[in-house]
Amino acid sequence: MDKGLNNSRKDFPILDQQVNGEPLVYLDNAATTQKPNQVLKTIVSYYQNDNANVHRGVHTLAERATDHYEAARDKVAEFINAANRKSIVYTRSTTESLNWVASSFGNLVVNEGDEIVISQLEHHSNIVPWQQVAQKQHATLKYIDLTTDGELDMDSARRQITDKTKIVAIAQAANVMGVVNPIKELAQIAHQHGAYMIADGAQAAPHMKIDVQDLDVDFYAFSGHKMLAPTGIGVLYGKQDLLEMMPPVQFGGEMIDFVHHQDASWTELPWKFEAGTPNISGAIALGSAIDYLTKLGMDNIHAYEHELVAYTLPKLLAVDGVTVYGPHDPNKHTGVLAFNMAGLHPHDVATGLDMEGVAVRAGHHCAQPLMEYLNVTATARASFYFYNTQADADKFIQAVTAVKEFFADGIS
Ligand code: PMP
Repeated sequence: MDKGLNNSRKDFPILDQQVNGEPLVYLDNAATTQKPNQVLKTIVSYYQNDNANVHRGVHTLAERATDHYEAARDKVAEFINAANRKSIVYTRSTTESLNWVASSFGNLVVNEGDEIVISQLEHHSNIVPWQQVAQKQHATLKYIDLTTDGELDMDSARRQITDKTKIVAIAQAANVMGVVNPIKELAQIAHQHGAYMIADGAQAAPHMKIDVQDLDVDFYAFSGHKMLAPTGIGVLYGKQDLLEMMPPVQFGGEMIDFVHHQDASWTELPWKFEAGTPNISGAIALGSAIDYLTKLGMDNIHAYEHELVAYTLPKLLAVDGVTVYGPHDPNKHTGVLAFNMAGLHPHDVATGLDMEGVAVRAGHHCAQPLMEYLNVTATARASFYFYNTQADADKFIQAVTAVKEFFADGIS
């Protein structure tokens, strides 16, 4: 584990630098991941050789740009095992994907008196859009509770999802609690009650094999930047018949079939949703990121991260005064470790760790209802990816101990 999975660390030049006089240990991967040379080269090559607007031109560059952009869509479809490339809509991010499902599909199927079910561990981008639908449609937003371990309480799920439920929207992997939720089982429960299942895959798609057909989700959302691609490109997967039913969210060029003076008709899927000039280089770079991940193997990535967490979690738990949120059993944990240190504000913890070259996040992690549920205002969070090493884990634990001692000395 000293060179990253399959010696991958060498592909990430950004990791080879000093921060505050210490070698950088980047443990903020749940916020965004670093980009390998292969993806960076794809972006440069696109702009050096192929740059043109897609779908419009008949000239060679336009055809090449279009071919690359659409080939990347095929890669996305294969990556999540979508039945059909028409099910893959490019968006800006998970946030945009979830907003589109909520504002377009949600407002179509949710009526007065209906219920929308989410959980206590959701990211704001899978809470606020549903609040908006609930308010607009006079529907009720309900929350599935957590077990004391921080996992989804499936008894609570069975109680909350009823025949009144129209939408169940849950993160497949949680960005604070570090748990993986049983999306397939939730989809079965939702469908038994005639509800639609939406999965927020932002923290799952980068780390494990996803099969949207096996999960039987109706919609699935994820972001490129959390899986080696640049910011500004995301994906909304939807079952084809549901995307056909769902009205477009943005209107203008590219998404029309024909425009008359007073009205217009829409082109076919998936372009019906892709109004205007899209993030062409971002989509192509996402295709390159998928090539990179696929070569490593999603199951290998999952197993490697599990090994890192199984190594780190007991050591973190052993530091006096540290509280780790979510399960303490590494077998139930993803590479996301949210923690607090007794008597220290998480921002001070993160600043102290940065002085040691260790990058972690501190704050509410866009999960304020969860913070309220846990009765904390914020946490620190370390999150791993396949290019992290055992040495990174050791440095992290050493830095946590150093921060503890520094503040203990400062206070005494
Ligand atoms: N859902 C989860 C679980 C996340 O972790 C994040 C990103 N922190 C998002 C949604 C939103 O992703 P983005 O900011 O890329 O839209």
